[in-house]
Amino acid sequence: ARRAVLSAVTGPGATADGHAVPLLANIGGPRDLDAALASGAEGVGLYRTEFLFLDRDAAPTPEEQEEAYRAVFDAFPGGRVVVRTLDAGADKPLAFLPPHGEEPNPALGERGVRLFRRYPDVMTDQLGALARAAAGTSATVEIMAPMVATAEEAAWFAQACRTAGLENAGIMIEVPSAAIRAADLIERVDFFSIGTNDLTQYALAADRQVSEVAELQDPWHPAVLDLIGMAASAAADAGKGCGVCGEAAADPVLACVLVGMGVTSLSMAAPALPPVRAVLARHTREQCRQAAAAARAATSPAEARTAARERLPELD
Ligand code: PEP
Ligand code: MG
Repeated sequence: ARRAVLSAVTGPGATADGHAVPLLANIGGPRDLDAALASGAEGVGLYRTEFLFLDRDAAPTPEEQEEAYRAVFDAFPGGRVVVRTLDAGADKPLAFLPPHGEEPNPALGERGVRLFRRYPDVMTDQLGALARAAAGTSATVEIMAPMVATAEEAAWFAQACRTAGLENAGIMIEVPSAAIRAADLIERVDFFSIGTNDLTQYALAADRQVSEVAELQDPWHPAVLDLIGMAASAAADAGKGCGVCGEAAADPVLACVLVGMGVTSLSMAAPALPPVRAVLARHTREQCRQAAAAARAATSPAEARTAARERLPELD
């Protein structure tokens, strides 16, 4: 019965007092579009393009890429589609794009935007395919780079996008240095999207693939909440958007906390959209702010969860 009530809330994401919070889907490619549309996604907040590159011997051709990107853009006419450039390395190694040296700690090695820079042909092909696909669509296409750690990388990426003819270049915030110096980085790009999975891994120095340290991999940790708050505030001060596209956005209580910290959109796996939409619709922005302040004042993930729940009366 509860499931039926949760999915009964439809339409664009918003708090009870009408503050819009676009609810977007995380997808790995065109085959995820049906589920995204069925769950009422207003667009795509994270298109993980690396799925097109996995399990093969060579990079997909520019034509193949253009076709896949166009299929996703055309599914959301007039909507927003945020594409992440190739995020290879570490937990997603590609045999045909290896890091250049030995890597005893691949999560701290040449991955994400670092690897993308090392292979200019791959970068040129992908950005070119994205630009051609974007040119013929009514969707608003935004491009973002993963694993950005410095303002220099942010500036480099924005320039690479402009050179390829792409507007709306952003970066993911998944490295603590980027959150701590968010004001420097946001000056160089159009938006942020926080990847809470990696941000948590790096904040707590707990490998997301090692089950023995899984307990530390908790986005409710107040240290992670502080980093998210720093990034969201810097973006707000600059008048730019700051979404969240990590697993944290799929937890309805944490979603309220994120909105309370100034996050402007939430992107998640399609099945999580209806419950998040329903819980947001029952709380005001001020209640979300109170929940966020209480969570950040806590000293552990468990305390943060409890403190937030106490400020959100309409959870059950
Ligand atoms: C993240 O790190 O939170 C994220 C969204 O990216 P991925 O899980 O693909 O690394
Ligand atoms: Mg990530």
